[in-house]
Amino acid sequence: MTRLVAALCLTQAVFALGVLALRAGGGMPGRSQRFSGQDTGAWVPGEPIRPWTHIIIHHSASASGSASHFDRAHRLKGWDGLGYHFVVGNGSLTEDGRVEAGERWMRQQDGAHAKPEWNARAIGVCLVGNFDEGKPSEEQLAALEDLCRWLCRECGIPPDRVVGHGETHGNATRCPGRLLDLGDLRRRLEGDR
Ligand SMILES: [Zn+2]
Repeated sequence: MTRLVAALCLTQAVFALGVLALRAGGGMPGRSQRFSGQDTGAWVPGEPIRPWTHIIIHHSASASGSASHFDRAHRLKGWDGLGYHFVVGNGSLTEDGRVEAGERWMRQQDGAHAKPEWNARAIGVCLVGNFDEGKPSEEQLAALEDLCRWLCRECGIPPDRVVGHGETHGNATRCPGRLLDLGDLRRRLEGDR
């Protein structure tokens, strides 16, 4: 009987610790953890993380897409695969708000998503959709915030270096669209610090 009670207490203690760990939202960097709804384990690259300085946000300017869809499109342009490091789905070809990590991120390779001087130091994140025509979904915004929060922490990138493609391009492109509020995203990320 005593043993049974002891075992039950131990089980409860382990459960309580687990709940506390989840509420704390922390965890060892690089280890699989639930991070505001996304499993960051799938984002941990196979190589040591490079000293990235910025995160550049794009929209696909298309109604549908996914990492594999853009990978094929980029190969047709003669590139060596998906130009972005991450793709955030919109419910068309992947689940709404699903974050897919591309090969360039897993292998810590230069991107192919911005001007050459940016591709070696900026992580490229593409949200599926055209945000000149409509807003991103709540799921996409939550996923983008989760992803940027994780990347800022893992890479030591300050939130004011999370920028839109147009901001790195002399505003020669409207990407990622006027209806994606990056100021709001940066304020949310700043709120963590
Ligand atoms: Zn872009």
